[in-house]
Amino acid sequence: MKSSDLQSVLPQAWARAGQFVAKHPRSLSSVVILGLAGFGATAFGIAPRGPEASLLAQTLITESVEPMGIDVQLERLAEQGLSLYRSDVTRTSDTADSLLRRLNVDDASAAAFLRQDPVARKLLEGRSGKSVQVSTDAAGTLVELVARYAAPAGAQSGSHFTRLSVVRRDGKLRSSAEVAPMLAQQRLAGGTIQTSLFAATDEAGVSDALASQLAEILSTDIDFHRELRKGDTFSMIYETLTADGEAVTWGVPSGRVVAAEFVNKGRRFSALWFKDEQGKGAYYDFNGKSRSHSFLASPLEFSRTTSGFAMRMHPILNQWKQHNGVDYAAPRGTPVRVVGDGVVEFAGQQNGYGNIVQIKHDKDRATVYAHLSRIDVEVGQRVEQGQHIGAVGATGWATGPHLHFEFKIGGVHQDPLLMAQGSEAATVAPAAKAQFAQWAHSVRGPLDVAQTMGRSGSHSE
Ligand SMILES: [Zn+2]
Repeated sequence: MKSSDLQSVLPQAWARAGQFVAKHPRSLSSVVILGLAGFGATAFGIAPRGPEASLLAQTLITESVEPMGIDVQLERLAEQGLSLYRSDVTRTSDTADSLLRRLNVDDASAAAFLRQDPVARKLLEGRSGKSVQVSTDAAGTLVELVARYAAPAGAQSGSHFTRLSVVRRDGKLRSSAEVAPMLAQQRLAGGTIQTSLFAATDEAGVSDALASQLAEILSTDIDFHRELRKGDTFSMIYETLTADGEAVTWGVPSGRVVAAEFVNKGRRFSALWFKDEQGKGAYYDFNGKSRSHSFLASPLEFSRTTSGFAMRMHPILNQWKQHNGVDYAAPRGTPVRVVGDGVVEFAGQQNGYGNIVQIKHDKDRATVYAHLSRIDVEVGQRVEQGQHIGAVGATGWATGPHLHFEFKIGGVHQDPLLMAQGSEAATVAPAAKAQFAQWAHSVRGPLDVAQTMGRSGSHSE
């Protein structure tokens, strides 16, 4: 299939997938595995698979999650003889016996093998957290054990994993270990905000790291600390590394957002990862406008910790217009970041402000960070957007730990969110516009499906 054909077929295929999701919300796990193929912009920079792996596969994968009738399953089981499969993760305190007991393996010879065999004993050496799957017969005798964990430190450790197998053949246990490549897999997730972003991402099976990433990518348009509303929705395509089809859980990045859309108070914001011809990757909206702006909307990173703190305003002056700033309640010690590049103009104490840092961004624009418990910069120092300049505290006139934040133009106070939304942003280079448009077109369908998933999730409550 040529990519031009692909482009014309994709929307129909995704529309079909969307109808399927809407019809069968219960039969789906929180993720649908994508065979989104033929496009160059994958977040990990791993070469995309060819277009031939694409459309039919998507439909099949989506539909195969519908469970078989129980009678069919039992019949199949009877045909195969009874095999039991279990999986778990190794713990620091594990011995061969405790691990096998947890996996319901009742087999003294297998325990002895795990202790003595030079290859198999590696399962319980080194780091815990190895993922283990076993199959046994009805009596609990080990038939096969497969463990997957990080590849040995070195050039391959970020891209490969170790697969350790113990198999019983002709009554004898044999071990083997090999190093195999992890594969990047694209998945969909969607949700509706009922109480908090993290509650919604939990329900969608999205990790905290990915949820924070989503919030950060959109942080020039949405201040997630202040602006989130019940009924807001998100949909995303993300890429995660897999070992034999299972999402990798050990010390590698937990995935990256490939494309996302967020509807906040009825306004739709989008972000698409795109690599230009120089190989430089960045997030853009559907119109090709860069997501990186000169200013971030919030001086605090969005995390489970900071999001759990309800906004508390100054008791007397409870609007930024009246008290000239925005207050963020957050635990003492939470890092404070500068919202744009600049130079430290003031770093020290001022009466009501306590420990305060003022950053001059250009001739007219300045930002102020007050009540800090700690200051990490000096006057005259150059700072970059996102750099930590201190930590949240309660110095000066503060009833509890919070950050007081101001944005000024020529000394006049402004709403920081409007400043961030309106600040300068680059667009996709003219030479890459056609490629970007094709990419944007191809993610439209999957994002719509993800959104349908998010809606059906909230309806089924
Ligand atoms: Zn304040």
